[in-house]
Amino acid sequence: MIATPVLVGNPIAEWGVEGVIWAIHRNARSWNDIPVKKSLSGPWKNIISIRQLLLHADIDLKNAVSAVWANGKNIQFWLDSWADPLPLYVKFPDLFKVDSNKQCLVEDRVGFSDAGPLFIWAWVRASLDVNECHQLQQLESLIESLAVNVGVDRWCWKYDANGSFNVASIKKILSSVNRDSQARAFEWNNWVPKKVAIVAWRADMERLPTKCALSARNIPVQDQFCVLCGEYEETSEHLFAACHFAQSIWLNIADWCRIPPIITFGFEDLLSLHEISPGSSKKRKIIHAVVLVAVWSIWKLRNEIVFRNGVPNTTKTLDEIKSMAYLWIKNRAKMVSMSWEEWGRFSLTGL
Ligand SMILES: [Zn+2]
Repeated sequence: MIATPVLVGNPIAEWGVEGVIWAIHRNARSWNDIPVKKSLSGPWKNIISIRQLLLHADIDLKNAVSAVWANGKNIQFWLDSWADPLPLYVKFPDLFKVDSNKQCLVEDRVGFSDAGPLFIWAWVRASLDVNECHQLQQLESLIESLAVNVGVDRWCWKYDANGSFNVASIKKILSSVNRDSQARAFEWNNWVPKKVAIVAWRADMERLPTKCALSARNIPVQDQFCVLCGEYEETSEHLFAACHFAQSIWLNIADWCRIPPIITFGFEDLLSLHEISPGSSKKRKIIHAVVLVAVWSIWKLRNEIVFRNGVPNTTKTLDEIKSMAYLWIKNRAKMVSMSWEEWGRFSLTGL
């Protein structure tokens, strides 16, 4: 099954494609792979962590961005994709070998004259062999055939029609992959009461009476907006995974449970989160139980708002998740010696 590490929309959507490109390209040591530098911020590391998952969907981050050549000051001549879907070092490997500066920019190799592009080669030796000359001819005619753009070089994310990097485009591709592998059965957890797990089970089957689900069954609803954010249509997927209220709950839970930030593409990511969480199987079962309690608690809050004029409150919801999960897990998992204080720090002895 393709699970899991998961993208919460916001942080990643906020970085521009330049940030991504910079991170991919501006590392001399590992230009042919994606560098993970300690100094890079969280979202980028999250992207790296799902790289394997993206590869299952045939998204190779390395090739997912291409440059639109204009002034040539930002594109690496051999290493970036710009003149061809393949970087030129892949397309013309023999020439690449003999270039004296493997990391040169496009402007270092191509100038302009009235007659068209003007090539500025800098080979490691005085002459090229027959094969290299042949490749050079092909390379020059490829570049001569390109349209000349004005302005500065731009970058395009190839999975979006407008070329801009966004989470929605990744999500779309991944959801088609996830669908193929949707043999996952709902996993119950006897450390929480059945009434709690059943909310997640219904959400997983799209059988919770959300506003969109009711309206799809021709049951009149006042409006279809999510009551937690007021901005998007209320589906199970939105309510528990995409809504910024839910996202802040998940980020807080990750922090508390000392697991990497939870980034969700969809509801199923929450249900399989424990499978990739670090730690013993007991700890993973606890995390699974906490997720089920959180889903139950978010749904309960949603109902309080819809039916009893409640107001969304992240702190209150988190407190409820922690205390109810403590009560249930302590007794059902036979962890009677676990103190509330230990639970609050998620410092669980023996796990
Ligand atoms: Zn919402």
